[in-house]
Parts: sequence; structure tokens; C-alpha cells
Amino acid sequence: MATMEYQGYKIENIAKGKMDYYVYTELCKGCGLCLAKCPINAKGEKCLSWSKEVGIYQTPAVEPDPALCIGCGTCALICPDSAIRLEKKA
Ligand code: SF4
Ligand code: SF4
Repeated sequence: MATMEYQGYKIENIAKGKMDYYVYTELCKGCGLCLAKCPINAKGEKCLSWSKEVGIYQTPAVEPDPALCIGCGTCALICPDSAIRLEKKA
């Protein structure tokens, strides 16, 4: 089966080192929905923020603070463009 590789970046060791976090810049349109729905951001902390990396429209993509992110996956679920993926470490 053919697989597609998207461009992006990886933030290692989120959620107490249990997961890696991938952002696919080719897919992120900078809508900010993930920032709005992150439960840690909702508590007033800066868990998921805008990144220096840019997305498909040259607007900022996003990145989590590995120390604050609990790996709940809400951001990945809510993203309309599947631009975020969390992967459990082996
Ligand atoms: S995985 Fe959960 S805590 Fe981490 S950035 Fe996404 S929504 Fe926020
Ligand atoms: S990762 Fe998804 S939800 Fe977050 S800003 Fe990019 S396109 Fe929007």
C-alpha cells in the first residue's frame, strides 16, 4: 500500500515523555481551532501556541509546550485538516 509523507516537524517527548507530536505544515491553514479547544489553553496556560514554522498559507502553524501538553489528542481530533498527529512512543 502506498503511503504519503507530509512535510512538517516533530516535537518529541510530550505528555511526560510518552508521546511525540507531529505538525504537518502542508496541511495547517492557521485557523486556530486547535488553540481554542486545547483544554490546557482553556485553563489560561500556554500549552498550544503559534509556531515560528508556517503552514500552507504562510501563516503560523502551531506547536505544543512539551512540559504542559498532556497528550489528550483534542487538537488532533478537532483539526479540520488532520494537520496534527500524536504518536505513542514504543
Ligand atoms: S494534545 Fe491536548 S493538551 Fe496537548 S496541545 Fe493538544 S489539546 Fe492541548
Ligand atoms: S493545526 Fe489544524 S486546527 Fe490547528 S491551526 Fe492548523 S489547521 Fe487549524
